[in-house]
Amino acid sequence: MEAIKNKNILAHMYLAGISKEKWSMAHDGGWRRGVMTTNMSECLNSVLKGACRLPISAIVHLTLLRCVKYFIEHVTKAQLMVHENQLWPDYACRKYEEWERKPSKHCVVKYYVRSQTAQIVTGGRTSRGQHMQVVRISTTDCSCGKWTIFGIPCSHAICTAKWHSLDPTTLVQPWYNISEYLATYEGRFEPLADERYWDQPTFKLQHNTVRRERRRVGRDTTTQLRNEMDRPVATERQQRRTNR
Ligand SMILES: [Zn+2]
Repeated sequence: MEAIKNKNILAHMYLAGISKEKWSMAHDGGWRRGVMTTNMSECLNSVLKGACRLPISAIVHLTLLRCVKYFIEHVTKAQLMVHENQLWPDYACRKYEEWERKPSKHCVVKYYVRSQTAQIVTGGRTSRGQHMQVVRISTTDCSCGKWTIFGIPCSHAICTAKWHSLDPTTLVQPWYNISEYLATYEGRFEPLADERYWDQPTFKLQHNTVRRERRRVGRDTTTQLRNEMDRPVATERQQRRTNR
């Protein structure tokens, strides 16, 4: 907080009024799982991009088509991973492999067999910049915090598991299993027939005149907070304007 205060006093005052677990990954107990966007719905922005400000029926149609495409792409990818006997999706594989390469530089200086606990010195005994971490396999915890945040054992946990003759791949959280990934995208979308074949509704849609707003003069202002997902679109439009 002191570093933020030195950089921007207004930001410090704003953040001081919000409990830390709501905006800081270091204090959220691992619930954000490394996700640093403002909320999980940001993940859908890439799917729905470009659907804003269209007529309602067009938004619904476009959203359905893009979701179907998104799910088909992912389920095809998942089936390929299953066929190749991949344990986890690409993201988890990359992270695990990266951390599995590091233990060659770690040194286990102390360990307890019963609680499967170890103290790890990173960088070896003689290297500069050594750090000491404590790993507890029984509570799936390492003092570096990465195991808790990502659900994938860090290099220290992998090193400790090997010292205790455990298979470190069993320490990856089960929600990364390829079967879970496949199940996520295996849901079915039913094709929609032409409107002429639909059942006759038993109700009639009516405008709610109470809620209808009077048209205002000028362009409506948006309250949307623009983020990194929106910027490329704005940049493309700007480039088009400058090219004219
Ligand atoms: Zn660690």
